[in-house]
Amino acid sequence: MESCTCEKCKGSCLKRPCWPTPRGAARIIEFGLGSRFMMDWWVADGGEEDILILVPALVGYVSEWAPSRPIGACTFYTDNGLCEIHGRLKPLEGQMVFSCLTGEDKVHGVCQKDLHEKIARTWDNDFARALTERWLAKRNLSLSGKPDTDMFSMFAML
Ligand code: SF4
Repeated sequence: MESCTCEKCKGSCLKRPCWPTPRGAARIIEFGLGSRFMMDWWVADGGEEDILILVPALVGYVSEWAPSRPIGACTFYTDNGLCEIHGRLKPLEGQMVFSCLTGEDKVHGVCQKDLHEKIARTWDNDFARALTERWLAKRNLSLSGKPDTDMFSMFAML
């Protein structure tokens, strides 16, 4: 199936990268594309630790921590306006918001905030933590390098 070319989908890819589940991210790594990720995080509610999440990198942030304002074009967004990993590797958030893989009518009415948080919470387990730890270690990145959260950017992304 070809990547979606509607303006809403393309606009989303230029606004911020969509998020995979840990299993989806592991598949992308298996295909040799792990260096195209950046390390992002979900800001936890009071008292909990932030949840680390491997996501397609913003242009300029491959194999780095996400910036505190993670807004911009996804590295998998191609010059011809398509998703380079559309198909089996496309992150679940992108699949569900756009309905690209099902071929159904577009359902842009999906609540993006709820979906974003649900995907984030799939990273709160030992499998995901091992994945993020390995990815950071391979790049000599550490938790001390994690940027502070820009709370205003969180609202801009939704
Ligand atoms: S992975 Fe593909 S669908 Fe998701 S933001 Fe990047 S280009 Fe768009």
